[in-house]
Amino acid sequence: MATTIIDGKEVASRVREGLKQEIAALTQAGHTPGLAVVLVGEDPASQVYVNSKVKACEELGIYSQKWALPAETSQEELVELIHRLNADPRIHGILVQSPPPPHIDEEAVILNIDPRKDVDGFHPVNVAKLVLEDATGFVPCTPLGCMELLKAYNIPTQGKHAVVIGRSMIVGKPMAHLLVSKQANATVTIAHSRTADLPALCRTADIIVAAVGRPEMVKADFVKPGAVVLDVGINRVEDATRPRGYRIVGDVDYAGVSEKCSAITPVPGGVGPMTIAMLMANTVKACRQLTQGA
Ligand code: NAD
Repeated sequence: MATTIIDGKEVASRVREGLKQEIAALTQAGHTPGLAVVLVGEDPASQVYVNSKVKACEELGIYSQKWALPAETSQEELVELIHRLNADPRIHGILVQSPPPPHIDEEAVILNIDPRKDVDGFHPVNVAKLVLEDATGFVPCTPLGCMELLKAYNIPTQGKHAVVIGRSMIVGKPMAHLLVSKQANATVTIAHSRTADLPALCRTADIIVAAVGRPEMVKADFVKPGAVVLDVGINRVEDATRPRGYRIVGDVDYAGVSEKCSAITPVPGGVGPMTIAMLMANTVKACRQLTQGA
């Protein structure tokens, strides 16, 4: 049986195309969706992420503000900016790029974002709405993108056993909630660093979602023949043959696993492109909910 390579770039571009019409309609009604992206410090990877978010906005006709604050910005100054953005009618989505410098308490900052503008879905109100299956909430973009990939490829989840490896608030836990929701109806196990015999557990899975941050940890012997594998990991490994001296790999040993599974996301080009597409979708949803009440 041939393995399906799940093309995240293609699905992400379809999601973006689908948003254009709604953005045009909102703009026509005087409500251009607006996103504020806040970066504290000079972390090079964060700068790349922030710039690609702003560029995605420009391509779709979403108004954007980029706030690049110096590393020594205080917690109070950052919170003050958040409060200004909460009150700014041009802004419907606010995100603070993670990770901030160590003197900033990220959770305390997130508590200050108006939950109606929390397009990253990190505010406790939105975490609760996810658990409650309240569709007005915002779901973190990466797991939301994983669900879109499953839908785009008509991969059934109902009655399937999904093993989510990783229990972070950004990926693992929201992913598990989405899979167990009444929309998806999977039976879900969350695995983590203290899980006993992870390979044996994974072999019982119809769907594996790897969100660990360990290069190529999920090997072929973790995978039941025919399982679906979503690889969320983005890891740099040294590679002297590359001009940059490194290459990006996922949490899944792609070469080995792709021989055994029925469908798999490559890294790069799988889950990654979906994250920004879903951020755009969440921003449009925030604009719609704030301006039209729906
Ligand atoms: P995290 O470090 O917050 O969480 C990692 C999780 O993996 C933890 O819950 C931990 O318990 C678990 N874990 C660690 N070692 C393990 C082991 N040996 N066995 C089983 N579980 C183990 O990371 P995160 O923010 O959830 O990100 C996970 C990965 O996904 C990273 O590579 C990150 O770069 C990537 N990521 C990608 C995107 C994207 O857009 N594609 C977005 C967010 C994160």
